[in-house]
Amino acid sequence: MSRRKAILLILLEVLLALWLCCLPRDLFKGTPYATVVTDRKGELLGARIASDGQWRFPPCDTVPPRYATALIQFEDRYFRRHPGVNPLSLVRALRSNLREGHIVSGGSTITMQVIRMSRGKERTLWQKGVEAFLATRLESRRSKEEILALYASHAPFGGNVVGLDAAAWRYFGRSAEELSWAESAMLAVLPNTPSSIHPGKGRDRLLEKRNRLLERLHARGFIDASTLEGALDEPLPEAPYPLPNLARQYVAGQPQGVETRTSIDKDLQRQVEDATTRWSDELALGGIADLAAVILDIRTGETIAYVGNASPQRVRPGSEVDIAAAPRSTGSILKPFLYCAALQEGTILPRTLLKDTPVNLNGFAPQNFDLQFHGAVPAAEALARSLNVPAVHLLRAYGAPRLLEVLRQAGLTTLTRSASEYGLSLILGGGEGTLSDITRAYAGMVRRYEGLPAESPFTDRVALWYTFEALKEVNRPDEIDWKLIRSVRKAAWKTGTSYGYRDAWAVGVTPDYAIGIWCGNADGHGVPLMTGARTAGPVLFDLLNLLPPSADWFEDPLSLRAEPASLSFRAEPVSLSLQAEPASLSFRAEPEGRSREISGVLLDVCTASGMLRSPDCPEYERLLLPERASDSEVCPYHRDGVFRLPPAMEWYYKSYHPEYQVRSSRDVAPLEFLYPEPGSILTLPRQLDGSVPGAVFQAVHRDPAAVLYWHLDQEYLGETHLIHQMQLSPPPGKHTVTVVDGDGHTVSVGFTVASTISRSGD
Ligand SMILES: [Zn+2]
Repeated sequence: MSRRKAILLILLEVLLALWLCCLPRDLFKGTPYATVVTDRKGELLGARIASDGQWRFPPCDTVPPRYATALIQFEDRYFRRHPGVNPLSLVRALRSNLREGHIVSGGSTITMQVIRMSRGKERTLWQKGVEAFLATRLESRRSKEEILALYASHAPFGGNVVGLDAAAWRYFGRSAEELSWAESAMLAVLPNTPSSIHPGKGRDRLLEKRNRLLERLHARGFIDASTLEGALDEPLPEAPYPLPNLARQYVAGQPQGVETRTSIDKDLQRQVEDATTRWSDELALGGIADLAAVILDIRTGETIAYVGNASPQRVRPGSEVDIAAAPRSTGSILKPFLYCAALQEGTILPRTLLKDTPVNLNGFAPQNFDLQFHGAVPAAEALARSLNVPAVHLLRAYGAPRLLEVLRQAGLTTLTRSASEYGLSLILGGGEGTLSDITRAYAGMVRRYEGLPAESPFTDRVALWYTFEALKEVNRPDEIDWKLIRSVRKAAWKTGTSYGYRDAWAVGVTPDYAIGIWCGNADGHGVPLMTGARTAGPVLFDLLNLLPPSADWFEDPLSLRAEPASLSFRAEPVSLSLQAEPASLSFRAEPEGRSREISGVLLDVCTASGMLRSPDCPEYERLLLPERASDSEVCPYHRDGVFRLPPAMEWYYKSYHPEYQVRSSRDVAPLEFLYPEPGSILTLPRQLDGSVPGAVFQAVHRDPAAVLYWHLDQEYLGETHLIHQMQLSPPPGKHTVTVVDGDGHTVSVGFTVASTISRSGD
């Protein structure tokens, strides 16, 4: 080999090596992009400008066909055939440039322009050579479609608009896929002279160039004569469109600088925003500034509408805060989870009578909303009426630590304190939850019922069914003209109002949707008269009307038992043993491929107490109950066929139930303590002057005429008539208080007084 040949070979090798490594793997590395958030179909919900102040959407993978055709026919007719450079057009450009003495024609291919956009160098002949060299390398690495997409994503479209997607939204208010031929042609010619989009004489030239391209597209057979005619008539766009700005707080929570496709349904979102804005503006007149709403699709488990805070145009403190994600006091909104959990564990049956009598635990003395005690209330009714005192009695029976675990399993992420810190107030708003979490937890119950996977502690479908049935009965406030909320639909729903009227909640479910509403003030100040039922309830039902009509109600598990043959899906008894008591039932049904099992027990339930029937209960019915219902308590209130409540329950119950007859019995003591409860530990606060006023002890007697004689640790204290109250301040230590009536009936209660604490400290 001659020396010259060897040098040539080395040169070629160097060139090849240079060619192979000349191009960075990521051409546009370090380029900042706008944050783009789309709905479930890819429709734009909103965007935030890139960090360099450019509307540069994250790169796309493909280019819409009309735009691709228009671009190629305008810029680089042989794009699909050349290897990155087009020698013919380069020579032609060189010749005309030499003739004119400066650059008049680029002769650059689309590929070369991609290289130039990525490097941002001056337009000199030398740079053009480098671009041509790099372009061939890019062609070897990327497909023609990818190169087109790189071009479309980074081309300048005037002002701070970069890339086809941003340009389509800014100039036409639509996505690039939806552009007409005229619009596509305009965007194909614009990057050539980006400033010509601005008002001025450049616009005439832009229109002229666009029309010339349209004629060319017709001449080359891409569009027919009538399309051409229509396209030529289309005017250029006027002022840029504002980008969509839906689901603002949701968009703000998405990752920066990339495109994120969410589960939001844009059309529904727009309707929900219109409706919540209307409601919020009205509520603002009453001092309620903020409103949040969340809607989930039960079938997919996805969020399909999300209003972090309505009425964005009304600026007020905290209006940018996403309240749907903010932890707020839960009021009564968590009560259904306690009811369902207690049913599932057999703590209660659906209509078990719960105590509604005064409770005072170390100063925690919950009241019902109406400040009344009702003596005894069926659990389902207590839930529907949202009574606080029965809920606290139920939580005592079920256990606050267990409920806390249930709530965490249901997806409440903001219950971070310990069960002892929450105590029994957990069920009355002592814990905090977000609207988003709580709505999801309600949706989880429905998904479980429907046999869909869900993060939910509820596995017993019969317990879930009774919960939905109880929530269907939730009272709608009388003062609201429900006729204004058109065609009110059926929903299982619950309301909540936090202490100090700071939070008003309403969460409702149907077999297809879960809707959550929160009203209040982001800054936390309360509004008298604001309640979940009155304030959030109407918004809930208004939004429910926006959703497509769906199944009317949850499929009755009892229908599976009664008429399996009439069902549209296969339902076969897995086990059925009616001979034994209790009879346990189990069905497996597979509607639309979903496997669901319905298991329960058939048991006789006392009609009066809602508890398992004892031989003394005169009236009872046989019900399909949760599997563990047989663990639940047997009716203790019937003796010889007579329904008799303990004195404390009776004391309040009788005034709400005129039919109830107070009857004495030798078996049951006619008197009972209301306060304190057996085994309580009392902390008696000391006043500023050093005195300890003590606590008011209270007992009740069936007979209004009874006289009670009081004793503390054997020491006689005095007697009481009608209202049996006694103020006592025993010293620290263990004590027993005893009352005796005239017939010698005696009750005692043991309690402990903790060391007195001084109130001056707080
Ligand atoms: Zn009974």
